[in-house]
Amino acid sequence: MSAPEVHDILERLSNLLRMEMRAFGLRFGLQPVQIEALTYLTQCNRYSDTPQAVTEYLGLTKGTVSQSLKVLEQKGLVVKQQDRQDKRVVHLTPTAKGKKLIEQSIPAKGLETALKMTGSIKIRELKEVLRATLRGMQHNNKRKTFAACHTCRFNQHHHDTYTCGLTKEPLSKQDIQLICREHQYPE
Ligand code: SF4
Repeated sequence: MSAPEVHDILERLSNLLRMEMRAFGLRFGLQPVQIEALTYLTQCNRYSDTPQAVTEYLGLTKGTVSQSLKVLEQKGLVVKQQDRQDKRVVHLTPTAKGKKLIEQSIPAKGLETALKMTGSIKIRELKEVLRATLRGMQHNNKRKTFAACHTCRFNQHHHDTYTCGLTKEPLSKQDIQLICREHQYPE
């Protein structure tokens, strides 16, 4: 299959996923950017839950993201917390209500049924191909990876414990599944 053909399919699929997410968000009075920001905040780690990181992840302007985060806070979907060490830094933590909302929205309507129709062996292969494609594009286009911590070159694993080699802080088993703005794949 040629790159333009793959592009075409991926574009139509991502457009469908976005449409379903938007429709889901609108049912709860959330604009697309607001549901996207909330989704990100339920998936990122403690180094990546700042307004600046949300802005980088979504690739939008600071003003748009700032307004969206205010709405999420007003609706009781996230809470703001000042960083313990650096008072200038604010963390945005999804509330139980915010997490529940996103749990309900993923996977997008129709995706699970469509995947079942393809057979489980093919899904495993598909996952590997999609992951490798994503990683390749991030690398080639020099984009921030925002990938899961356990695949990062700074992640240090000794016996049953994990440490971030960048911050020198311990990481839990849950932390290593989350996405991070400082993530880098091994060379
Ligand atoms: S190991 Fe990498 S991905 Fe994990 S917290 Fe540290 S910098 Fe982020």
